[in-house]
Amino acid sequence: MGGRVWSWLLEFAPVREAVRREVRAAVDRVMDDTESAQAKQRERHRTTLDQSQHELVELRAKVAELLGANTELRGELAERDEATQREAEEREEFAHRLVREQEAAAVQQWHGATTDVFCCQTCWSFWFLSTTPDRTSCMMRGPFGRYDMGCSVCAEPLMVLPATKSVVYRKGAEDRVSRPIPDDGVRSEIAVAAAELDAIAEGLTRLPKVSSRTTAWVATGLIGTPDLPAKVLGEISARTTMAVPLDGIVAGIRAFIEVRAPRQPS
Ligand SMILES: [Zn+2]
Repeated sequence: MGGRVWSWLLEFAPVREAVRREVRAAVDRVMDDTESAQAKQRERHRTTLDQSQHELVELRAKVAELLGANTELRGELAERDEATQREAEEREEFAHRLVREQEAAAVQQWHGATTDVFCCQTCWSFWFLSTTPDRTSCMMRGPFGRYDMGCSVCAEPLMVLPATKSVVYRKGAEDRVSRPIPDDGVRSEIAVAAAELDAIAEGLTRLPKVSSRTTAWVATGLIGTPDLPAKVLGEISARTTMAVPLDGIVAGIRAFIEVRAPRQPS
């Protein structure tokens, strides 16, 4: 619609001239506007760029700062880790030392402990009672060999065994309790056990060959670890079938000593 009106008006010269002026003015205006707009945009761009560059510089500084802090933190962490590990190692070492000391103390406490051997004359089970030299601790091992779970004679060994000892003391018969022959020479564990088993056999030969409702103190002063003689005695007596197995046990012990630990010719 606008196009058609213009083409009609342009037929007239004064109009054409006026239009040309108008157009030139409009073009100039447009050009000015454009230039100023461009300048403004350039200015804006420059400002933005300046701002960006400024921000970039700030950002770089911040990054550098952060990196520095990070390195510092890493260093601190590494140190702390080292300290933590050192602490853990120290704790572990302390625990080991404590265990070693306790073990050493236990060995020390039981060093020089002596063992008494008892025999129940009802069910014919054997009991080993070890006592520390200071008499503050005792350890009971048993029953070994034949044992009747329902036996009331040796049902409470920690009460019965010391009572048996005190009866023997009261009778002044402690000299009759068998003990291993002392030997100052260095002997193997089996040789020590053989000497102790020999003392136990000796003690058993002194018992009456009948059952009774008592417990007998058959040997004393065993200085080796009781485990080996207890095991041997237990296995020998578990194999005996007689009602009163004393002869069988004594014979078994003597045979064991003969085969396993023959006496060295002196
Ligand atoms: Zn018994």
